[in-house]
Amino acid sequence: MEELVRRIQNDGNVLSEGVLKVDRFITHQVDPVLMEQIGARLAEVFAEKNITKVVTIESSGIAPAIYTAQSLATPMIFARKEKSLTMDEELLTSSVYSFTKQLASTISISRKFLNEQDHVLIVDDFLANGQAAKGLIELCQQAGAQVEGIGIVIEKSFQIGRQLLEDMDVPVVSLARIDSLEEGKVSFRQADA
Ligand code: 5GP
Repeated sequence: MEELVRRIQNDGNVLSEGVLKVDRFITHQVDPVLMEQIGARLAEVFAEKNITKVVTIESSGIAPAIYTAQSLATPMIFARKEKSLTMDEELLTSSVYSFTKQLASTISISRKFLNEQDHVLIVDDFLANGQAAKGLIELCQQAGAQVEGIGIVIEKSFQIGRQLLEDMDVPVVSLARIDSLEEGKVSFRQADA
């Protein structure tokens, strides 16, 4: 997605060879116009899959996921990283190791929001080692829901996430793919959409 690549070039900051900061438009301050375009694009790519729910993980997956869900006219569910006092029903849970926080957390979704009739599109802001997406796939599997695909805003293709997810037979579509963050520079490869 050209507009996204341009935005990363203009407003992204390379923090290290492994980490890109996009807090000017995705992860802290959010550009709703760009997000709406991202949501529309992901919805278009997965339009034939009869998606019934869009699933993400809090917090920075929520913005792209909500716009994707709006375009697909489905609900959006975000997995919580901390159990809320109001989550008093049966939960689907999985353990996720966070790339940016370098710690493991238990993620959960209330069982009542996913079932075996659901066709799920997972959406997230970044794909690095694939742990967040894998945790979300596990939650869907516990509910008996079918994961139809994974829509990613920014994939760091030099990390193992895509391989891990493709080995699980889930199609991955990334709107920007980064080959390297070496020498403070973002190098892109051809994106999926
Ligand atoms: P994974 O689980 O694929 O290793 O990492 C994905 C999660 O880590 C995403 O949900 C995202 O929040 C965070 N993340 C991974 N790499 C980066 C990065 O380079 N920059 C930012 N801002 N977040 C990242």
